[in-house]
Amino acid sequence: MDQIDTAIVGAGVVGLAVARALALQGQEVLILEAAGAIGSGISSRNSEVIHAGIYYPPGSLKAALCVRGKHLLYEYCEQRSVAHRRCGKLIVATSESELPALQTIRERAVASGVHDLVLLTRDEARTLEPTLECIAALHSPSTGIVDSHGLMLSLLADVEQAGGLIALNSELVTVGLNAGPAREGHVLTMADGTELEVRQLVNAAGLQAPDLARRFQGLDARHVPKASFAKGNYFTLAGRAPFTRLIYPVPEAGGLGVHLTLDLGGQAKFGPDVQWVETADDLQVNPARGDAFYAEVRKYWPGLPEGALQAGYAGIRPKISGPGEPAADFLIQGPGQHGVPGLVNLFGIESPGLTSSLAIGERVAQVSLRPE
Ligand SMILES: Cc1cc2nc3c(=O)[nH]c(=O)nc-3n(C[C@H](O)[C@H](O)[C@H](O)COP(=O)(O)OP(=O)(O)OC[C@H]3O[C@@H](n4cnc5c(N)ncnc54)[C@H](O)[C@@H]3O)c2cc1C
Repeated sequence: MDQIDTAIVGAGVVGLAVARALALQGQEVLILEAAGAIGSGISSRNSEVIHAGIYYPPGSLKAALCVRGKHLLYEYCEQRSVAHRRCGKLIVATSESELPALQTIRERAVASGVHDLVLLTRDEARTLEPTLECIAALHSPSTGIVDSHGLMLSLLADVEQAGGLIALNSELVTVGLNAGPAREGHVLTMADGTELEVRQLVNAAGLQAPDLARRFQGLDARHVPKASFAKGNYFTLAGRAPFTRLIYPVPEAGGLGVHLTLDLGGQAKFGPDVQWVETADDLQVNPARGDAFYAEVRKYWPGLPEGALQAGYAGIRPKISGPGEPAADFLIQGPGQHGVPGLVNLFGIESPGLTSSLAIGERVAQVSLRPE
């Protein structure tokens, strides 16, 4: 049986960033990816926003890793010429009842170490974005956008440069404990029956992470959260983008509200909304959902022309809290939590997972392989 130091399951942006961090530490790494290409999961179905780290409860992993990840990501993109733009964003209140939400975001931001938010009056906001309608706005200058595929290609190049390998079309099916006297390490069985022995295993399987973890011998089921899936649908705008910054309403339950994001080519899209679904492969966008988008978007952009929105794409959030439940934090679970030597599970890595990816890699590289 082939043996290797560390296997990382999943070649999304998180798995790749973890593999890079471990490879740069000198570990011998192999990335196992079920699909025929990298980044074909959640990592290619998101808003590609570099979040500032302002929404999450201070002290949470989401807050800490987003803020750290943002700095690391800007630095990395500049060093490695990954396309990105620090375009900034406005979070807008369109009614008096939304003003307290802006204040809460500002307080959370400061408590998480983000001190650059500026509260703008309607007129100040309209000086920046003349077609915007609001009664007040928060300007976040450190929010940006990134070419997520360029980022993933660059991360993979780093892994390979450091001697790491990737195996595409390699679905991990079950994991057994090594039968040797020390009972350390894991025996991985792939879909084609191939077996591989590893000392360390990182589960970065995104939407499939909880389901896969249930197939790990020795891992108590109480350490595996229930997966819930919240689909986010996008609608693209035909014609020129009306704004130069990203425009967000105040957040809604389960997501950040139907916002406007720009891609690096200047194309605008609206979304994602929140639609709880039963399965992780329900990726069709129902054009009828566009009706609700018109109403939401016109609150801050009354000039949205009738018929200008076209059904775009959808992504699914890998939630570990269900509808109506409080939002869960990222869950990075090592031997200290579940007691299985050499195993790290990453659960609930929804937004801001792209922004946080390099910081998650850094964090996983610090996890002790022993339960003590
Ligand atoms: C609608 C939406 C919008 C978002 N917007 C943003 C944003 O603007 N900014 C931001 O920071 N974050 C955003 N996010 C979050 C971000 O996209 C994710 O956190 C991130 O992409 C997760 O990456 P991942 O590597 O964990 O998962 P994935 O990219 O899904 O990668 C997991 C990989 O594991 C593979 N896999 C699964 N099971 C197996 C197996 N058994 N064997 C081998 N391989 C397997 C899959 O094929 C897949 O390639 C958004 C998410 C969504 C859904």
